[in-house]
Amino acid sequence: MGIDAGWVRDHVRDLPDYPKPGVVFKDITPVLALPDAFAATIDAVVEPFDGRQIDKVIGIEARGFVFAAPVAYHLGAGFVPVRKPGKLPWKVEREEYALEYGTDQLEIHQDAIVPGERVLIVDDVLATGGTASAAVRLVRKLGGNLVGCAFFIELGFLGGRQHLADIEIHSVVTYAD
Ligand code: AMP
Repeated sequence: MGIDAGWVRDHVRDLPDYPKPGVVFKDITPVLALPDAFAATIDAVVEPFDGRQIDKVIGIEARGFVFAAPVAYHLGAGFVPVRKPGKLPWKVEREEYALEYGTDQLEIHQDAIVPGERVLIVDDVLATGGTASAAVRLVRKLGGNLVGCAFFIELGFLGGRQHLADIEIHSVVTYAD
């Protein structure tokens, strides 16, 4: 099957005021649980990058791993986790990013990318873009050559793309509101 935006909207569960008031959480688990839909979703995330040279695919903890690992397999690339502080066991680079209230941090292993390698960042949802832009800074700190960022869902009304200027951004389904 292909993936249809209307079908996705009908199968992604909207949870108002989760995990806090004012946020409408996109629960993607009903899509992941359907074998054909999961496969079609991964194919759609990969699509613009298929056939292009990608050396490493970055997955952002935790739901990003679900997409990035099969995307890496599909592209014949390596998989690299970007994780919350204290989770990676070896030497790390760290980047801080703004949340609605306060800040958070992401880490990557220092040897996860060889300078010059072509890198694709993958996550489930692009919201404000803070998480993805921190991942972009980590890739560039390690000398990676960023090819683009790919998401299943983009919350277009939050303007995340503006934090990722001059970067090729691909999202399978965009919510305008
Ligand atoms: P942001 O940094 O605002 O772009 O947020 C992106 C990260 O937060 C992604 O890793 C998503 O998993 C998660 N996220 C943010 N907003 C939502 C939402 N409304 N529904 C589901 N996940 C979200």
